[in-house]
Amino acid sequence: MTELKEHDKDINSFLEFASEDAAASVAASANQDGPLAGLTFGVKDNIAVEGMHLTCGSKMLKDFVSPYDATAVRKLKEAGAVCVGKTNLDEFGMGSSTDNSALAVTNNPWDLECVCGGSSGGSAAAVAAGLVPFALGTDTGGSVRQPASFCGVYGLKPTYGVVSRFGLVAYASSLEVCGILADSVDTTRKVFEVIKGKDGSDQTSIDHIPASADAETVAVLAGDLGLKPEVETAYKKAVDGLKSSGMKIIEVELPMLDYGIAAYYTIAMAEASANLARYNGVRYGHRSAEAGSFEDLMRMSRDEGFGDEVKLRILLGTYVLRSGFQDQYYTRAQKIRTAVRNEFDGVFTKADMIMLPAFPTAAFKHGDQSLDQFQQKLADKFTVAANLSGMPAMSVPVSVENGLPVGMQLMAPVFAEERIFKVAEKLAEVLPPAACPLSMAGQRTTEAK
Ligand code: GLN
Repeated sequence: MTELKEHDKDINSFLEFASEDAAASVAASANQDGPLAGLTFGVKDNIAVEGMHLTCGSKMLKDFVSPYDATAVRKLKEAGAVCVGKTNLDEFGMGSSTDNSALAVTNNPWDLECVCGGSSGGSAAAVAAGLVPFALGTDTGGSVRQPASFCGVYGLKPTYGVVSRFGLVAYASSLEVCGILADSVDTTRKVFEVIKGKDGSDQTSIDHIPASADAETVAVLAGDLGLKPEVETAYKKAVDGLKSSGMKIIEVELPMLDYGIAAYYTIAMAEASANLARYNGVRYGHRSAEAGSFEDLMRMSRDEGFGDEVKLRILLGTYVLRSGFQDQYYTRAQKIRTAVRNEFDGVFTKADMIMLPAFPTAAFKHGDQSLDQFQQKLADKFTVAANLSGMPAMSVPVSVENGLPVGMQLMAPVFAEERIFKVAEKLAEVLPPAACPLSMAGQRTTEAK
């Protein structure tokens, strides 16, 4: 653990490391014959690990310690993997840089002046830095795939419902899913096989019924996509890579993508305003010391505990849900959601898969004003479609441009994760992922320490 802490000093991907003793005793009792025996992992700090903090990157939950494991974490432990700590994130998963964390700043291991992406940025940075071979994240609108692209690692957002959300702190329940950040396709697949499946503790969870893994035709986007030159170049390289590995490419247009952003943020904020109502200063979380009355307690605890971006979303979410206006916003957003899904269903009658950029830029500098909170939201246009439609998508590292990695997203119909893995493997043969110069992967002494 000391070596991990030392290596993480300038990166700050972890908010908390397991104690030396705890990790050693867990490692000693871990299932040595399990499919993940000997692998260590990090967990985004909005997913519960028994006995460790569950801060959600928020002052609201800064001191909260989880009394139980999330189902995904429990399954990983049963498979022999050892959790080494909790990773940084945008507060409650709201953001695209991890700079919205109220507790720490995480730097991109490829360039410490850059953000690591978000909201599962700590998990992506930890894998890129070689601290762990994989980490859990959550993906509500791109939070696994976008930081994976920024940090040059693999990032899978599974089909909605296929991984239990039990133990995941809710942000937008109808959109989010627990996902995987990993150093290879093979690790991603192994972890996915372990954590998937219906869970009695999550009513929305479903069994995984694998769709065909065959892929011959991949759709790509035509026209001006508003990408930065480095992403445009990487997209072209990836298309050429697919062609040289024998895939047939067709060009499509997705006019609904721009509407998807408005629908996503309407639904996400509406659900967030309901989900975050539970932090009232009474049962758990931050409690204001100044309050005189019950009403003050609630108001002041929320005012002191939540950061600006979280407050903005609660306010907007409450606004779109206010009485008499649901049709104008929420219902309309749900209709757009259906239209987005229909558009992708149409693509999948002609192609087995679609490849989209993960984000229009590579990792940007901390505080970059050209990518303020509003611009960052617009830039989610390529990732939110998978959440609105429930379909699986994986960001795969395809190129390094000007010293920074760029990832592309492979998206397929529901339950077609294996199809994505197969194409990602083909792509890795022709465009092998580059190791981050700061990675300590080759030097990790023992996997479980
Ligand atoms: N950037 C998106 C948002 O801020 C996605 C976040 C996520 O997937 N948790 O909502």
